[in-house]
Amino acid sequence: MSSAANSADVDLFVIGAGSGGVRAARIAAGHGARVMIAEEYRVGGTCVIRGCVPKKLLVYAARFAHEFEDAAGFGWKLSAPKFDWRALIANKDREIARLEAAYTTGLEKAGVTIVRGRAVVEDAHTVRLDGDGRRIAARHILVATGGAVSHGPEIPGIEHVISSNEAFHLTELPRGILIQGGSYIAVEFAGIFSGMGSDVALVYRGDNILRGFDDDVRARLRVEMQACGIRVVTGQTVVAVARAGERYTARLSSGDELAVDRVMFAIGRRPNVAGLGLEAAGVALARDGAVAVDEYSRTSVPSIYAIGDVTNRVNLTPVAIREGHAFADTVFGGRATRVDHADVPTAVFSEPEIGVVGLTEGAARARFECVDIYKAEFRPMKATLSGRDTRMLMKLVVDGVSGRVLGCHIVGEGAGEMIQLVGIAVKMKATKADFDATMALHPTAAEELVTMRQPSARHLRQAAQ
Ligand code: NDP
Repeated sequence: MSSAANSADVDLFVIGAGSGGVRAARIAAGHGARVMIAEEYRVGGTCVIRGCVPKKLLVYAARFAHEFEDAAGFGWKLSAPKFDWRALIANKDREIARLEAAYTTGLEKAGVTIVRGRAVVEDAHTVRLDGDGRRIAARHILVATGGAVSHGPEIPGIEHVISSNEAFHLTELPRGILIQGGSYIAVEFAGIFSGMGSDVALVYRGDNILRGFDDDVRARLRVEMQACGIRVVTGQTVVAVARAGERYTARLSSGDELAVDRVMFAIGRRPNVAGLGLEAAGVALARDGAVAVDEYSRTSVPSIYAIGDVTNRVNLTPVAIREGHAFADTVFGGRATRVDHADVPTAVFSEPEIGVVGLTEGAARARFECVDIYKAEFRPMKATLSGRDTRMLMKLVVDGVSGRVLGCHIVGEGAGEMIQLVGIAVKMKATKADFDATMALHPTAAEELVTMRQPSARHLRQAAQ
């Protein structure tokens, strides 16, 4: 270790107080390390401040629209409900401020020193604080700076385009909004704005939304979104945005124009490495711009580690938290710990919700000799009286040889909650016979998962010619 490391001010300097960085800092401090953490925006990071948490609060708000409509079939007579966007945003902001304070207190109680401002890596053991120019000598540096919004290639009028960051703080609910993108953020916000009463057009460049998800899930969600009144435009991109008085006109690659109150892009995030000084410090980046790390989250510079979205492995909050915890145990807890990135359950909080774990049918068929598909598409019980035109999808992808459940895909109410638990079974390598041996719980939607007797299809891999 260099002399700088021996005379270190801290054992660990964490850059970025998001979910992963905060966990790493607290656990490292618990192992006895002297820890400093820098945050240039707000403690809590993307997930807490302008991601998963406020998004889910808006999703709850949007879903009341269906509840009010569905209530009539169950005998309720309601006067026309009124929605107050500003009240929702103010309440959401209050809750986010409470969480930010809780995160801050948690760090302080753990003995972590919080630095408000930007930190830049100068070399393997030095971090410079942009605010006062102070240099901190650190035995280890952890980069946990997450991802940054990317708006893609420059197009005319790009300055009029908002991202999810701004969507959380709009002063008015847009009457009409165009959302470009076809993944998590795009479909979630399409459901949010549609539920609140906005006219929503979703513009996606490919042939169907949610590339990478199981094809049946993609098809089901598209039908459901369209049934909610969302206009799904595929095979198109937004090529220009122009201001038209109080509104905006978006021109699509087809030449069509859409007049809306807001244009939002949700076309991905890139690893947040700009201006961090990583390359100058000798930290290797991968081709996608992410910090390259080994299975212990160590970069090419042995004293510098990186976790979470900045490493672009599995970009989900619980994964970043796991990686942060594993890093702290490895470096300060005397227990080398790797994170298993296989079979991570995930949910899309679209309307309706999606929950998936494991392999899609396509991925399983590419890897396994024999794949059995069990599928149920049905009208959920609640829709019988509400009259809502919706269907739920449950799908199991099973290895036809061993019987192991390789993947589970759910579209419908409660899919996220269900998939968290199915995730345990899939992680334990449960077989279809284990699912069958589990008694159904009636009447639930989830019982379909243990009552699908006959495969709807069996796929044998074609022998290579
Ligand atoms: P993703 O990276 O998941 O998807 C980007 C979307 O934008 C894709 O549909 C992609 O199309 C499209 N796209 C990319 N570049 C362009 C372009 N130049 N022009 C037009 N379309 C383009 O991004 P998101 O913004 O949805 O999400 C960001 C991250 O946040 C993800 O990593 C996700 O895991 C995470 N997240 C997770 C959530 C959850 O767990 N519920 C919720 C929200 C976010 P194509 O498919 O053709 O590549």
